[in-house]
Amino acid sequence: MRTALVTGGGRGIGAAISRRLAKDGYRILLTYCNASKPAEMVVDEIRDSGIDAVAANCDVTDAREVALLATHPWVIEGIDVLVLNHGRYDRIDAKDLDLTHLRRTMSTNFEGAFLVWDSVKNQLSSDARICVIGSQLGTRGSSHGADYSASKAALATWARSLAQSLAPEGKRVNIVAPGFVDTDILAGDSPEKRSSRKEEVPLKRIGTPEDIAGTVSFLVGNESNYITGAVIHVNGGLYLP
Ligand code: NDP
Repeated sequence: MRTALVTGGGRGIGAAISRRLAKDGYRILLTYCNASKPAEMVVDEIRDSGIDAVAANCDVTDAREVALLATHPWVIEGIDVLVLNHGRYDRIDAKDLDLTHLRRTMSTNFEGAFLVWDSVKNQLSSDARICVIGSQLGTRGSSHGADYSASKAALATWARSLAQSLAPEGKRVNIVAPGFVDTDILAGDSPEKRSSRKEEVPLKRIGTPEDIAGTVSFLVGNESNYITGAVIHVNGGLYLP
């Protein structure tokens, strides 16, 4: 059976990706950092559907934990799909950003993705597909997320570089850049903020985790065999002028 590893796959967008890839027929190895309960619930749900799944605790900022993940039997047997989805966003004004905060965000969103890739890269199948979850803010920037935007920009250019390097081997790497998606990241929004976000989106709605999962499914599937190094914006047209 083919195996998909989804970081941060127990909650929000990652949970939708785990469920969707399970439907696509992959057994799911998902990771969580703090939220074990939602992760176990996603695993149970997938198992109930007849697909094997397991949750592994792994803080991607901790090299030892990432190295331990790489010793998981399913990783040793071979990874067919790697989804680097984990991420943190702490709303802080760009002018108030300090080095500690910047380093924390970079070490989670960017270095954490690198560490996971680096620890499993020798276990990837010959036609492995990698999907990285970036952000619209990785190109737009944000007055309240300079560190986050910088980390996502770094992630996208790193992933595109990897795509160029891995293409001759037949492995593909693509980036999904979500706009506003209904998860805990937006949970602090006031009703007014939520409706102003909707207004801002040309398609006039906030995205769902399933909107992102569907695109990931396409990018790791055979219908996208000629796509690598692409940044696919899933944002309801938000990047339009
Ligand atoms: P959530 O806050 O709901 O989920 C974040 C996920 O990242 C959780 O599974 C969390 O694990 C995991 N995570 C955070 N820190 C670490 C860490 N140090 N080590 C391992 N895992 C960690 O956010 P979303 O589902 O919305 O976000 C998923 C991805 O989508 C992120 O990369 C985010 O930047 C991106 N994105 C989201 C947008 C949105 O509007 N929602 C917009 C653009 C991009 P745990 O729960 O166990 O702590």
